[in-house]
Amino acid sequence: MSDQLGSAIPAFQGRVVTPEDGGYDAARKVWNGAIDHRPAIVAQCTDADDVAAALAFARDRGLEVSVRGGGHNFGGNAVWPDSLVVDLRAINQVTVDPRARVARCGGGARLGELDAATQEHGLATPSGTVSNTGVGGLTLGGGFGWLTHDHGMSIDNLVSARMVLADGSFVEASPDENADLFWAIRGGGGNFGVVTEFRFALHPVGPLVHAAMLFWPLAQGVEALAVMRDTIADLPPGLGGLLGVGLNAPPAPFVPEQHHLAPGHALLLAGFGAAEEHAAVVDAARSKLPPLFDFVSPMPYTALQSMLDDAAPPGILAYERALYLNDMTEGAIEVMAEFSARKNSPMSFAPVFRMDGAFSAVPDDATAFGGSRRPAYTVNLACVAPTPDLLGADTAWAQEYWSALRPFARDEGSYVNFMVEPDQERIVAAYGPEKYQRLAKIKARYDPENVFRHNANIKPADR
Ligand SMILES: Cc1cc2nc3c(=O)[nH]c(=O)nc-3n(C[C@H](O)[C@H](O)[C@H](O)COP(=O)(O)OP(=O)(O)OC[C@H]3O[C@@H](n4cnc5c(N)ncnc54)[C@H](O)[C@@H]3O)c2cc1C
Repeated sequence: MSDQLGSAIPAFQGRVVTPEDGGYDAARKVWNGAIDHRPAIVAQCTDADDVAAALAFARDRGLEVSVRGGGHNFGGNAVWPDSLVVDLRAINQVTVDPRARVARCGGGARLGELDAATQEHGLATPSGTVSNTGVGGLTLGGGFGWLTHDHGMSIDNLVSARMVLADGSFVEASPDENADLFWAIRGGGGNFGVVTEFRFALHPVGPLVHAAMLFWPLAQGVEALAVMRDTIADLPPGLGGLLGVGLNAPPAPFVPEQHHLAPGHALLLAGFGAAEEHAAVVDAARSKLPPLFDFVSPMPYTALQSMLDDAAPPGILAYERALYLNDMTEGAIEVMAEFSARKNSPMSFAPVFRMDGAFSAVPDDATAFGGSRRPAYTVNLACVAPTPDLLGADTAWAQEYWSALRPFARDEGSYVNFMVEPDQERIVAAYGPEKYQRLAKIKARYDPENVFRHNANIKPADR
């Protein structure tokens, strides 16, 4: 079957992997080890021509299509059962123009590949916090991390993109060309076509930055979470932060051995300016409530970008639920403290991203991002488990935790990149009806047959 199919994709330069091939299991694996999807064909594309050839082949054979970047979507959208997978992993070249401060990044690159190339010039663009995440899926949904406070989301730094549409045509999306498409791909996910190249604006960052982790035990939950909130809600320019709510202390060299795996809460602070500015914020938090331990150190920006990799290794079993909070009120903090003590897997926790600063300087309708730009917290209830039993127990935990936090949430919406089981109601809620309608009209123009549907799907508007 493999030869037949391989040779049947005319002019395809990459490798075609089918269930009969050795390597099929490796080719269909995604980050979430709980996903066991069996696609019909994995078309490992080497360039945009391969993408067009694979899409044409799927069309001719009546095969559904899924698109694979870094494979981090929790629900396994990248390798949908019985579909043809447009696998972009080999389209991962990154070139940097340091004068123009622009990076060209292949649609299948990982964050670590983008960072490695840009850091050669002391530059970076905002992305996520785990280095093996795909630039593609992360960017198309929004993309936030340490640099978001200073420079916004990945989409806020997207200059243009090269795409292959469902009908195989090649287009550019930018403020000057196909501006509606350019608006839609900045938050509307992989609904509109396959991005083979992103171009990002870059900023001077590093190479050395400052990192800190302040860790409090579970017993100090309510007080510690309030200090963490007050600190992260009031960061000066030049700092970015993340809360690890209900995190077990990593068994890492910078954690005193007696506290390895201790359950608690972590305030993580990254500083991109002077060491003193970072130290002042760390000292202020420390003096409000002395932590169990802390760690403060300069480190390369690329090390900061991979500091959390071990918390979410590929192949681990995972499930997630997310929501936006306008504020971490006392009520919300009490729920967080209570549920942090009730998780089952030591690896489960709630990463809480503060969204403000440059993120909030962008008007709501400037991009298709699914969520308001008002300052907020994105709370991700991440169940991360080494065994099926723990996965089952913490899936129930995350669902109950989510229901308990819902009364404090901003609205029904949440970040589309944190939706493991997107249903139509939640997708519409993520964008709000007006934005969703605008996206649906653009979808009808660029993908009227809804070829790109294995995602947080925007249905084409009736024409
Ligand atoms: C461990 C971990 C850490 C994370 N940390 C963060 C974080 O810090 N910040 C954040 O914002 N998000 C984070 N996320 C969420 C992440 O943004 C999403 O999981 C995202 O979908 C990952 O993209 P991917 O390319 O790796 O995934 P894939 O599963 O490969 O792709 C997801 C979907 O994106 C689309 N897609 C991917 N690439 C392309 C492309 N080039 N062209 C067209 N469509 C494409 C497809 O529809 C695909 O189904 C994290 C996820 C995990 C698992």
